Amino acid sequence: MQDIIDVYQKPEWLALPKIMLGKGSNMLFTQHYKGVVIINRLQGKSVIENEDNWHLHIAAGEDWPQLVNWATEQGYPGLENLALIPGCAGSAPIQNIGAYGVELKDVCDYVDILLLETMQVARLTAEQCAFGYRDSIFKHQLYQKAIVVALGLKLRKSWQPNIEYGPLRSFTATHVTAKQIFDRVCEVRTEKLPDPDISGNAGSFFKNPIVSNSQFAQLKERFPDLVAFPAQEGMKLAAGWLIDQCGLKGTCLGGALVHPNQALVLVNNGKATANDVVQLAGKVRATVMEKFGVSLEHEVRFMDATQETYLTSIVEAR
Ligand SMILES: Cc1cc2nc3c(=O)[nH]c(=O)nc-3n(C[C@H](O)[C@H](O)[C@H](O)COP(=O)(O)OP(=O)(O)OC[C@H]3O[C@@H](n4cnc5c(N)ncnc54)[C@H](O)[C@@H]3O)c2cc1C
Repeated sequence: MQDIIDVYQKPEWLALPKIMLGKGSNMLFTQHYKGVVIINRLQGKSVIENEDNWHLHIAAGEDWPQLVNWATEQGYPGLENLALIPGCAGSAPIQNIGAYGVELKDVCDYVDILLLETMQVARLTAEQCAFGYRDSIFKHQLYQKAIVVALGLKLRKSWQPNIEYGPLRSFTATHVTAKQIFDRVCEVRTEKLPDPDISGNAGSFFKNPIVSNSQFAQLKERFPDLVAFPAQEGMKLAAGWLIDQCGLKGTCLGGALVHPNQALVLVNNGKATANDVVQLAGKVRATVMEKFGVSLEHEVRFMDATQETYLTSIVEAR
């Protein structure tokens, strides 16, 4: 922790922009970064047990997939649906990672943060983190003001499986184990998603857009097969389906490619420049807007030479 404080207080680096990274799996650097990159490798985990729960305290630099594997092996259920999501534990609350019907918010007890203004550590309850769909306080009030240093997870002993999503539906709630869910999630993800170590990608490139109930009704009339799920503020559309319907799977721009099987994933075929990825993302966004009138927002975080940037700003500036 002192290392992080030292980096922020080092006189020669005071004026430079800084970014904390976990594994970089949700990042696109659109230009050469001219600041200080800090890699979070805070390690350690501990478990306290009471009658109802296992309480896990996890240092932010722990590897998330390894943590889920370890917890499942130890018999602490609750994380299995979030298996194989690349990244560090400390990055998980930033966008409230989610998969197969479970989000971090469902298991998060607290998040410990280092406040950059005072260099003091504070604890936020899960409620204070204001988790939403791929969203949290760290993208708003605490944006660039706090570093996540640890994560508290509360895993219920009265575990209930979450098997409502696609490939998990074939399980029976009364018989399935957390390990079986973990294995199935790993199997499906390995089969479905390109391995970032082989073809560079950042997982789902765009968020599933949320539209009002009335816009949904209009779209459903024009596109009866529209894939959507109820969301708090309306209906959440499957971005992958929208992209697929535009016939964009396999579309190539320079070295960047819309994955031929997973429309939501943009991959680097080995030679892509950041500009290729940005251009392809712009094309996908514009095509979906033209066909459906729906605006796609990227889930991947873009960084230019000094600060966070967005597809819309880059496109407008051209
Ligand atoms: C193949 C693949 C599949 C994926 N599948 C999913 C999925 O199913 N669900 C899902 O939600 N996501 C998914 N993702 C996205 C990614 O795994 C998550 O966003 C993950 O939490 C990123 O972790 P990271 O450590 O790599 O974060 P990074 O990419 O290093 O950082 C992401 C953001 O968090 C900030 N940050 C990182 N650490 C800290 C910290 N300690 N304190 C403050 N800010 C910090 C960074 O500055 C940056 O803005 C996938 C990505 C890939 C490549």
